[in-house]
Amino acid sequence: MHAWPASEVPALPGQGLPLRIHDTAAGGTREVVPEGPTARLYVCGITPYDATHLGHAATYNAFDLVQRVWKDAGHDVLYVQNVTDVDDPLLERAVATGEDWTVLAERETALFREDMTALRMLPPAHYIGAVESIPWIVPLVKKLLASGAAYRVDDDIYFSVDAEPRFGEVSRLTREEMLPVFAERGGDPDRPGKRNPLDALLWLAARPGEPAWDTELGHGRPGWHIECVAIALEFLDMSFDIQGGGSDLSFPHHEMGAAHAQAATGAHPFARAYVHAGMVGLDGHKMSKSRGNLVFVSKLRRDGVDPAAIRLALLSRHYRSDWEWDKSVLDESVERLARWRAAVSRPDGPAAEGLLAEVRAALADDLDAPAALAAVDRWAALQAESGGTDIGAPGLVSRTVDALLGVAL
Ligand code: ZN
Repeated sequence: MHAWPASEVPALPGQGLPLRIHDTAAGGTREVVPEGPTARLYVCGITPYDATHLGHAATYNAFDLVQRVWKDAGHDVLYVQNVTDVDDPLLERAVATGEDWTVLAERETALFREDMTALRMLPPAHYIGAVESIPWIVPLVKKLLASGAAYRVDDDIYFSVDAEPRFGEVSRLTREEMLPVFAERGGDPDRPGKRNPLDALLWLAARPGEPAWDTELGHGRPGWHIECVAIALEFLDMSFDIQGGGSDLSFPHHEMGAAHAQAATGAHPFARAYVHAGMVGLDGHKMSKSRGNLVFVSKLRRDGVDPAAIRLALLSRHYRSDWEWDKSVLDESVERLARWRAAVSRPDGPAAEGLLAEVRAALADDLDAPAALAAVDRWAALQAESGGTDIGAPGLVSRTVDALLGVAL
C-alpha cells in the first residue's frame, strides 16, 4: 500500500555524528553505525482499528529522529514499516461496531497517514500490509515446518521457541519472566498440545466468520510476529540496522520475530539493534485502548492545535522515558513554537554554527531531543535579549530545526 508524502529535509553545512543509541538486546547504549552507505530501519506499524494516539506518535517521532541523524551523517536510509491490517483487535472491533473489517482498516490507515504527514514524519520507502505479506509468509512457515522449528496443533501452526537457542537475547527476560508477559500480551500459554507454553502462533487456521486465505499452509491467516519477519526479510534482509517499536514490543513481538527469522534463515542477528520507545500515560496510566484514556493526534488537529506544537511536545520528553501527557506539556510547546518563530523571523541574529553542533551532538547521544530543544531555547533567548549581527543565522537555525527535529518554523 502507499505511504504518505515526504517533507523535504534541508541540507546542513558539514556532517552529523555517528548515532549512539540504546539497544535493548545489548542492555545499554552503543554506537549503531550502518555497515554500508544505506542504513536499514524497520519500525513496527499500527493495527488500524483506532486513530493514532500520542503514544504511537511518540514512538514514530523517535524513529523519525533516527532517520534524520543517519541522513545528516551521510547515509541513505531504507525504512520499512508494516500495517497489521488483519489481526484479532481489528476483527474484534469490526464485530463490535458492525463494520466491515476492511473498511475500518482502510479508514484508520488513511487517518494515520494524515497524522504522520501533519507531524512531518519521514515516510517509509515500503509501507506494507499484513494481507500483502501473505505470499512471503507462506514459504517462511513452510521452511520452519520442514526443519522441525514449527509444528501443527490441530490446523494451527506454532513456532517452537526451543528451536532457537538464542531465544531470550532480545528482551533479556528469563523464561519465568516471559510467561506472565506472554499471557498478558496476546499469547496462549495454556493451549493444550503446545510443546512449550511460550510457543507462538505462526498461522491461525480459519475461524467461523473470520477472514481467511487459501494457501499451502491451509485456509487461514498469519500470526503477527511472522508478518514483520516476512516483510523485513523481503525488503531489508537479515542483520538490518535497527528494529524499532514501543517498549511493549520487546517481548514477545521482537523476541519472537528474531527467533523466527534466525531459525528460518540460519543467520544471526535478525536486527543489529532493537530500540524501544517509552510509553505515554494520561492520568497515571499508560495510554491504551482498554483503559480508554487515549489522546488522539487527529482530535488535537481538529481542535486547531498546530501540528508543529504537537511535534515539539513529543520532542520535549526523552524517547526512552515513560511520561505523562497533560495540557501543560502542550501549552509549553505552543509557547516555545511562538518564541522560536519570532526569533527566526528577524533578518539576523547570534551566530548559529555552535547551535547546529549542539543539536547534532544531542541527537547523536541516544536521541536526546530535550537537550536539543534546550540548545535552541538558548539561541532564541539570546536573539530576544540582544539580537546579533550574523546575517543568515536565523536561516541556519530554521534549517537545523527542520532537518534534525522535523519542525518547520
Ligand atoms: Zn512488528
